[in-house]
Amino acid sequence: MARASSQDEGEWVDGFLFVANRPALDFLNTKPVLAEGPTELLPDFEALERWLIAAGIVSSAKTKALLRGWRNSAEARSFLKELIGFRERLRSAVMRMEAGATPSDEFLKEVNARLLEYPPRTALRKREGRVVMEPIFEPREPADLWAPIIQSVADLLSETETQRLRQCESCVLHFFDTSKKGSRRWCSMNLCGNKVKVAAYQRRQRDGDSR
Ligand SMILES: [Zn+2]
Repeated sequence: MARASSQDEGEWVDGFLFVANRPALDFLNTKPVLAEGPTELLPDFEALERWLIAAGIVSSAKTKALLRGWRNSAEARSFLKELIGFRERLRSAVMRMEAGATPSDEFLKEVNARLLEYPPRTALRKREGRVVMEPIFEPREPADLWAPIIQSVADLLSETETQRLRQCESCVLHFFDTSKKGSRRWCSMNLCGNKVKVAAYQRRQRDGDSR
């Protein structure tokens, strides 16, 4: 997977944020608020292609070429439109979970329907003299891109440690806290943590000066 080695330094991969520790949340975080305001990082299918590669979901040359070929198709456009709509419904589900509730029945129904249509597929392969079971992803049309996305969403919705599911204290990004103490507050130190700490420091300095 492309991003395994970039967990620490590489919060941005090819213009996308990977700070969430859960693929479904990284997907949710494709609409951050940047200096210029709320920013859609998936404005067209070409951007989605780049995101799938950055996320490590698409890696083979064959699949990359296939996606490139779909770029200007009506199917790809309509898939992306559906996907963006789904992302916003996912956002509501995640916020409900963060508030200690469960996602709506309606949303679970939608996810279940897609799980039935795009079930996870696996294959046995030999790796270093052992047989391992690996997911296979060989899309044949744009809608097949639901498979890895819906699987990651199903993983997230069935997450048991929901208290580790959190929204950044100072922006719209969400993350799954994998820190030992479980006390992570920000999407990232670089994006928000330092900003908040610097502001608090400046406030203390200012208050100190006026005394
Ligand atoms: Zn943040």
